Amino acid sequence: MSQNNPTRIVAGNWKMNTTPEEGKKLVSEIIPMLEDELRGHVHTILIPPTVHLASLKSLFSSIGMTLLWGAQDCSAHSKGAFTGEISAEMLTSIGVSHILVGHSERRSYHGETNEMCREKIVRIVEAGGCPIYCVGETLQEREEGRVEKVIEQQLREGLSDLLRESPIPFVIAYEPVWAIGTGKTATPQQASEVHGMIREWLRDQVSNSVAATTSILYGGSVKAENADELFCMPDVDGGLIGGASLNSRSFVDIVKACAR
Ligand code: PEP
Repeated sequence: MSQNNPTRIVAGNWKMNTTPEEGKKLVSEIIPMLEDELRGHVHTILIPPTVHLASLKSLFSSIGMTLLWGAQDCSAHSKGAFTGEISAEMLTSIGVSHILVGHSERRSYHGETNEMCREKIVRIVEAGGCPIYCVGETLQEREEGRVEKVIEQQLREGLSDLLRESPIPFVIAYEPVWAIGTGKTATPQQASEVHGMIREWLRDQVSNSVAATTSILYGGSVKAENADELFCMPDVDGGLIGGASLNSRSFVDIVKACAR
């Protein structure tokens, strides 16, 4: 694969699941099954609850393969009196490379706006990390024919001037809200259509090279059974996986599908 192609990525978002022991068991099952893929070109990112990160990272630091660690959220501020918050710098300083921003659960349960996402993206880049910016429409927005408008607004308000100033590392995850945790997956055509639109937006608003190299992940009820047909579609560079990332066999099969 040419260096100018987007990196293939599979990221497992464990959400608020697993005790530290369960997390350790999950990672220790995943690693031996993924040996070949972890040496290959698919970047595999594990996104456990923040409290597990430091210990998991140090327990599995010597495996000699490229397993990356991500966080599910971070503060929009860099430091100070923000009780309960965790800064991007705290996360990157323990070896976190990727941080989710604007996951639909953060947007709907915690009132996160595109502007707040933008602040988080700035903090992550300042801290040397790579944001995974999540965008996606609700079922109502899709039924009203507003998919393109909603996603264009999420991209513009969350990202656009940042991308024009100077190149920054970032990944986009297209996650239709109606497909997250519902068992309903976008069809491969629906996913590819929106991914193509996101790439087109990057081409128009930023540059051809950013459009050509940005990884655009699909998320929303990806399972071992549907990963192949989604990952082979144009402009789909991998997946953000929720429920299926909690089962080692399913997660490994999804990574293998992305490597094919
Ligand atoms: C997610 O939480 O980002 C997600 C895609 O969840 P699920 O795979 O369970 O739909």
